Amino acid sequence: MRVLVVEDEKRLADALGEILIEAKYTPDVVYDGEAGYDNASSGIYDVIILDVMLPKMDGLEIVKELRKNKVATPVLLLTARDSIEDRVKGLDAGADDYLTKPFAAQELLARVRAMSRRQGEVILDELTFGDLTLTLSAYTLCRGDKSVHLGVKEFDVMRMLMSAPKAIIPKEELILKIWGTESGAEDNNVEVYISFLRKKIFFLGSKVEIATMRKVGYYLKEKEA
Ligand code: CA
Repeated sequence: MRVLVVEDEKRLADALGEILIEAKYTPDVVYDGEAGYDNASSGIYDVIILDVMLPKMDGLEIVKELRKNKVATPVLLLTARDSIEDRVKGLDAGADDYLTKPFAAQELLARVRAMSRRQGEVILDELTFGDLTLTLSAYTLCRGDKSVHLGVKEFDVMRMLMSAPKAIIPKEELILKIWGTESGAEDNNVEVYISFLRKKIFFLGSKVEIATMRKVGYYLKEKEA
């Protein structure tokens, strides 16, 4: 899951990034409102953590602009302790929740989990397709009583494929969602992870395969018996 952090207090911003990485999210961290808005408007994030007081463009403006442009990504606002007005304005502008500084890492993660659930993506702990089951909390892919552990990127790729079974997932979308805009990940990076996954699926003896639509993307299908 990709999370955007927009916070101009660099130490806090970087700490948030680390907390998120440890919790297996993929964060992008930026330090001013303009960069925040540019990234956020790409629509590739699952959750946006947004400070209110920011240089260049403040958090409230950012939410307003995003909603105006139909970017519906859930937004968690970070507000100062005594600024009730900001919270009200923020929620009115289209933010989904707020957190008052200072806060504990656990509380932040709980909010982020709740927001991503609200978005409808991680309601279930398991995704299934054919004879395969992906367990989201354990990062495992199983068939019957055989299971394999997936690395973070393998898991992200598999989760995207299994969230939209039979749909073709464009390569560019995989790259954007999993590697982000600045990573410079090349196509063949995706191919490497797809080939790891194919080996693991083969090891499980599954009937499912990751099929390639040339020059378009990947999709899941079940092999004929
Ligand atoms: Ca600030």
